Amino acid sequence: FAVNKKKRSASTLIQFDDIGGQEVAKQELREAVEFIKDSSRLSHLGIRPIKGVLLNGPPGTGKTLLAKAAAQFTDSVFLSASGSEFVEMYVGVGAQRVRELFQSAKSLAKQQRKDSAILFIDELDILGGKRGQNAGNAEYDQTLNELLVQMDGLSFDDSIKILIIGATNRIDILDSALLRPGRFDRHVKVELPDKKGRLHILRLHTKNKPLASDVSLETLARNTFGFSGAHLESLTNEAAILALREEKVTITSEHFQSAIDKVIMGEKLDRRPNT
Ligand code: ATP
Repeated sequence: FAVNKKKRSASTLIQFDDIGGQEVAKQELREAVEFIKDSSRLSHLGIRPIKGVLLNGPPGTGKTLLAKAAAQFTDSVFLSASGSEFVEMYVGVGAQRVRELFQSAKSLAKQQRKDSAILFIDELDILGGKRGQNAGNAEYDQTLNELLVQMDGLSFDDSIKILIIGATNRIDILDSALLRPGRFDRHVKVELPDKKGRLHILRLHTKNKPLASDVSLETLARNTFGFSGAHLESLTNEAAILALREEKVTITSEHFQSAIDKVIMGEKLDRRPNT
């Protein structure tokens, strides 16, 4: 298993300001990662380090962006993996991958002369579902055990501090051992954006797009109940493609309306108002 460091550490240049809405999540995550910056003071007070933060929320709401912004904020290297990469048929392979991932975090940090690393594990529920449920699946249990062992081994005194950020939308199926103090004991909820959040996200994603004067982002934000950040990004892109097809130089309100329909048809969105 060759860890693709290039891919795993790609594009970390995301800042909290590049993330629309999610004000509570941004604030909570910022607080949780502060310790990386100030570890000697916390260590002096005998406060144990935070090892794991769990981002919990629906797909496309910006969990990966938040983890990347946390890495930028703390001047850490960023590595990412998905829970599904650890699911293997042969006993011991998944556990080996977990060890390699932690090792890669350390070597990448050394290489880049940083003293901290943020390791992002998307779809944590695939790797960290309740043990013993897949009867006799020793491989599965070993992989999760290895993650627990690696997390338990992290300390303030390590020359390179590692924080694990896990993402899931199924916190209910996570093994309780993962949620114990000293593991993923900080939980940050990442919700679908409300109207204000949607407006913020639309502004970010239309920053470099020529909008016709009939486009009201306020109206678009109102008309996109149930859209995630990823849907809104897709909406702005689709609208631009429609304008291109019609050989227009600006994106009109009509393009946006057609793009909304397209996104809604593409996904069976739950469009119950949340604000
Ligand atoms: P998944 O659970 O499916 O992995 P996620 O919650 O990690 O999704 P991201 O990968 O962070 O979601 O978001 C996907 C894309 O959607 C981003 O690259 C970005 O273009 C857009 N996006 C999502 N949320 C936001 C947001 N809050 N602000 C700006 N863009 C966003």
